[in-house]
Amino acid sequence: MKRHPVSAVLLAVVLTIFAPVFATQNAQRQAPPPATDEQKLLEAMHIITDIKLYDYVKELCADKYAGRLTGTPEYNACAEWVASLLKSWGVQPVGDKGTYFQAFPNPYSLVFKGGMLSMNIAVGKDIIKKTYKYEDEFIPGGTTASGEVTAEVVFVGYGVTAPELGYDDYQGVDVKGKIVLMDSEVPMVASDSSDVFRKWRPYSFHQVKLENAVAHGAKGMIYNYGPIGNPNNSYRDGFIYHHVGAAVVADVFAGTGRTYADTVAKIRKDLKPQSFPTGKIMTVKNVAERHPEGIGANVVGAIPGTDPKLKDDVVIFGGPLDHLGRLWEMMPGANDNATAVAVGLGVAEAMAKCAIKPKRTVLFVFFGSEEQGVAGSDYYCEHPIYPLDKTLVFINMEGPGMGDRISASGARTYPAFWSFIEKANQKYIHRQVSGGATSYPGRPRQDSARFFWKGVPSLTFGASGKPAPYPTYHNTKDSVELVTPEIMTDMVRLFFMATMDLCAQDALNFRPEKK
Ligand SMILES: [Zn+2]
Repeated sequence: MKRHPVSAVLLAVVLTIFAPVFATQNAQRQAPPPATDEQKLLEAMHIITDIKLYDYVKELCADKYAGRLTGTPEYNACAEWVASLLKSWGVQPVGDKGTYFQAFPNPYSLVFKGGMLSMNIAVGKDIIKKTYKYEDEFIPGGTTASGEVTAEVVFVGYGVTAPELGYDDYQGVDVKGKIVLMDSEVPMVASDSSDVFRKWRPYSFHQVKLENAVAHGAKGMIYNYGPIGNPNNSYRDGFIYHHVGAAVVADVFAGTGRTYADTVAKIRKDLKPQSFPTGKIMTVKNVAERHPEGIGANVVGAIPGTDPKLKDDVVIFGGPLDHLGRLWEMMPGANDNATAVAVGLGVAEAMAKCAIKPKRTVLFVFFGSEEQGVAGSDYYCEHPIYPLDKTLVFINMEGPGMGDRISASGARTYPAFWSFIEKANQKYIHRQVSGGATSYPGRPRQDSARFFWKGVPSLTFGASGKPAPYPTYHNTKDSVELVTPEIMTDMVRLFFMATMDLCAQDALNFRPEKK
């Protein structure tokens, strides 16, 4: 039998051909050098991609979430989706009863199609109705009542009654049963050093102005505010209102012998009201539904620190999860503020999956009801999950998804924190990153104001540059197509690297020294 020699030859040939393969496999069996900390961080940082963040924004803006108005079933479904992602990465639930949710009372209004705004215009002996265009010329008030009112429009300046300031926009005019036209804010600018403004500030709230109109017997309002959508206001039975823009205001003033610009300039210059009945008859109509029983929720998840002492220090990442809902068309709120949620989720995933764990605790809060008066952050600050005095820093995000550079308020207020941002940017990101000081003299429009007033170092990050081709603030046009995902990815990577760096340091305190 000659089979053995043939087999031997074959074996030899096989071994020769595959020798390099076996050699490689042998080498692979030897353990590779352990990854350095730097490599572990880089690996986690690169988990987060443009497409992933873009898909988050797309999901948040989907019809099924109906514009994420806090309190609605659609908002709750969206909050569940965010919680499911946190759970899938092993981020810990730290909300009510071991859930990812921190609930709070949150009445809300639904506004449906069917509203309108028109003016009666006399043409000879006939009256014709000029109707105004939804969104271009008016947007229904976010907390309007349902119904219709046709009445004369009375201009009431800023709608302020402040006896202690010797100022009353309602003095000498009768608004009973009428529609009032008023401006937002007060007749002066909020600025840091202004002691004068501080006295006027309580009157700058939409709620105070609306309630003052109701107290004077007005039945409706056209609010010179945009027109942009905004659900941050009071609800009063039977009080119907719209937000209007310059075209409507100009029509109200036309033929009265006054101009809007001069009239307002006079009020501001002399701090004397210029209210007057305009003689214009308008119809304000809305179809709406009030839900006083509404419950809102923040979504909260944490990555607990690993160091027995340092874990008591907390870094918070936050951004609003909510938007305006439907007014009556859906407001998608892509940049404001689905992009903030996407960035927050990106940081959470990178951190949860990183082979290095932070020594300090990192908390992610996706706030409800930012748009309805920062109620979610207000509730958190009154019911903090971790003590506020151990909260090292609150990193808030507002519109971090449109543009090509990164900006932050608070950079100059907290230089010790800012150095971590600059270091990470120089090493890994290479974007134009800039920032100013933090101050909140006016009304609280941002979640970070609540934390700031509680003494927590608070910064708000956003993107700037490359403006959108048309206004997108609080209207139907803030849609996912305008988002620039690369800036979100860079923001995630910047936050991740800076936070991992600061979480690895010994004792830190970003609170400015008390003078
Ligand atoms: Zn907003």
